[in-house]
Amino acid sequence: MKPTEKQGQACAKEVERFGNLPVPFGVDRATLKIELSRALLKYAKDLKHAGRVVQQIIETAIVCPTVAELITVTREVSADATGLPEPCNKCAADGGYWVHQMAIKDVGFGTQEYHYSGRCNCARGRELGHRDRAEQPKIDYAHV
Ligand SMILES: [Zn+2]
Repeated sequence: MKPTEKQGQACAKEVERFGNLPVPFGVDRATLKIELSRALLKYAKDLKHAGRVVQQIIETAIVCPTVAELITVTREVSADATGLPEPCNKCAADGGYWVHQMAIKDVGFGTQEYHYSGRCNCARGRELGHRDRAEQPKIDYAHV
C-alpha cells in the first residue's frame, strides 16, 4: 500500500495486536515491532488486507512472527473479499481459477492424452479444490 504517515500509523497499530504473543529469546520487541510495521506497510495491499494478515497470525501463531513469516502470510492471505490466497504465476496467467492440465492414460490399445481444466497446485488452487469438495452433495449411502 502507499507508505503514507497515516497508513504507517495504522500498520503500527495492527502490529500492536501481537502484544500478547511472546517474542523469541534475545529478540528486542520494540525493534521487531518497527520492522513488522514496515513489512506490513510494504507488503499488504491495503489496511483491510493488513488487518486480515494480522488476524490470521493471531489465530494461528504461538509466538510473535518474524518479518519473513509476516511477509509469507501477506502472500497467503487474500487481498480481496474472496478470501482466496493470491494466484501464483502459473494460474494467474489463466485468470486465477483454472489451469490447463494434461494426463496420459493407458486405454488398453495404447495411451491417450487427456486435456482438462483443473485446479492449480499452489495455495490458491488447493483452497479452490477444497471448496469444490465441500460443495459436493453429501450422499447418504446407508439409505440409498
Ligand atoms: Zn496457482
